[in-house]
Amino acid sequence: MRTFGCQMNVADSELMAQVLGEHYDLTSRAEDADLYLINTCAIRRKSEEKVRSLLGSLKPLKRARPELILGVGGCVAQQEGERLLAFAPHLNLVFGTKGIYRLPELVDRAGRGERVVDVALERDLPNPPQRWWSPGTVQTMVTIMQGCDNFCSFCVVPYVRGRETSRAPGAIVDEVAAFVAAGGLEVTLLGQNVNSYGRGLPEPMTFPRLLRRLNALPGLNRLRFATSHPRDLSPELIHTFGELSALCEHLHLPVQSGANRVLARMNRSYTREHYREKVASLKQACPGIALSTDLIVGFPGETEADFIQTLDLMGEAGFDQAFSFKYSPRPQTRAATFPDQVPEDVKAERLARLQAVQDELTQKAHARLVGQEQEVLVEGRSKRSPQEWCGRLRTNQIVNFTGPRELVGHLARVAITEAHPHSLKGRWVEGSPPRDRGEERLRTSPREVACSER
Ligand code: SF4
Repeated sequence: MRTFGCQMNVADSELMAQVLGEHYDLTSRAEDADLYLINTCAIRRKSEEKVRSLLGSLKPLKRARPELILGVGGCVAQQEGERLLAFAPHLNLVFGTKGIYRLPELVDRAGRGERVVDVALERDLPNPPQRWWSPGTVQTMVTIMQGCDNFCSFCVVPYVRGRETSRAPGAIVDEVAAFVAAGGLEVTLLGQNVNSYGRGLPEPMTFPRLLRRLNALPGLNRLRFATSHPRDLSPELIHTFGELSALCEHLHLPVQSGANRVLARMNRSYTREHYREKVASLKQACPGIALSTDLIVGFPGETEADFIQTLDLMGEAGFDQAFSFKYSPRPQTRAATFPDQVPEDVKAERLARLQAVQDELTQKAHARLVGQEQEVLVEGRSKRSPQEWCGRLRTNQIVNFTGPRELVGHLARVAITEAHPHSLKGRWVEGSPPRDRGEERLRTSPREVACSER
């Protein structure tokens, strides 16, 4: 199984593995596989091109093993449907974003020689099968809603994921409780716009209320969520950051542009002033909160003056991290038809300038942490050095540090010693035992962060 794209896709791939788990085992060698699935992303043209190129590169494998079932799922599959079969004659199966639950049946049909396409976008969001986690898993993602009703003019999501649908709160709470009972420490709630979770459910429910119910589960140490539309970030939700002990002090709040003219054409339904107010309220409710964002440069009609406004807003908000991209026209979206597309060289030049500004902001945010002792959830071996371990702070920064192997899968206290552009370096605070579920929540309170910043 190969996965492209966002956390939602990673979570969907986990779900596919579970749905198919009774019929297949996972193998790490493509040559041994009876079934090869590609979970695709359509958000930018580049991601779609990567999928097409991977499909091409799988031709020799399919020639060598004609019985191999090759399937493409996810957003590109949803968008292209039958056209993918025409593009790749060696492809057996195309299934859309809601086809995951029907996978056993679809794979079975493909195995009997049918070339299958299933891209129905029905509204209901079935509950996933009973989830299981491999022993030692301490982090998981739980999808709480899917789809989007916002129709931002650049975004393909409403067309490939369908309209907004929320899962029943009881099922979500049960799933998180089962994870915690199995030893889990950190849960990330996922949806295209989790802030509007609960709309359309038969029982009245809001996202802050769901967070409160989850926060009350004993043993859940870290709770995160993604992604949030700034318009739907209510005062009640903002205040959960200062209030719920499991909720990590980090929020991903995509702004996309700092210019009102561009925001209006993007159909984002907020202004830079609204966004700034929300950031100020967040910082007041939770001093020390880390903010990350998404930014698009070169949206149709974006002028140099608009772009400068984006750079200004970045500095004002003081983002700890930003995911920035050149605008890429997507099929079916309104912005793809706008006549005033920005030339590629202008987009590239703006992206480089914007990323330089963000690098500086990130470096400053990292430097502020040097000298502090922080709680790290230790994920495994560091990519930088086999002698180091790697984990994340509650505020989501990556830390590489030295310490004993027993810390992996636990919460540890780490003294931050160096700030790097994309990570921090630290040292385990000797004598601080690994913390496990069921123990008192180790929490760097916003107040402590604010004090040490001073
Ligand atoms: S809110 Fe997010 S997912 Fe929905 S249309 Fe806008 S960018 Fe796409």
